[in-house]
Amino acid sequence: MDPQATWKSLLDEWADRNWQAVIELAEALLQWLDKGGCPPEVIAGRRLGTFWNEPVVRFCCQFAADIANRVLNSPDGIPEGVPFSLSCSECDCASPDSYEQAIHEGWTAIEFWPQGTSENFLGACPEHSD
Ligand SMILES: [Zn+2]
Repeated sequence: MDPQATWKSLLDEWADRNWQAVIELAEALLQWLDKGGCPPEVIAGRRLGTFWNEPVVRFCCQFAADIANRVLNSPDGIPEGVPFSLSCSECDCASPDSYEQAIHEGWTAIEFWPQGTSENFLGACPEHSD
């Protein structure tokens, strides 16, 4: 295994929200570390060393696999325990307080969007739903 390539793939799949791939890559990296394999450098261009990289990689892999499992285990793809803040992909309207309220108000296409800066979910507000 190339741990650096696996780490990069894990981050790419997380950004693309390919949750099954996130779980597989995270588990592969954890198994690699359990067998005494060298961790990847977590930040491109920075040589931080095994002492730093190993715990960071372990935490990130466990975190990513846990969140990915929560998304896949939810019938609506809304992971349990993630604070609900929703943005419309078309406008700046206010976020409903909960997923249930958003559905009740007529929001559609609500997706977990962990790369958001001020929201955890993206969707289409009632005005911008088709
Ligand atoms: Zn809107």
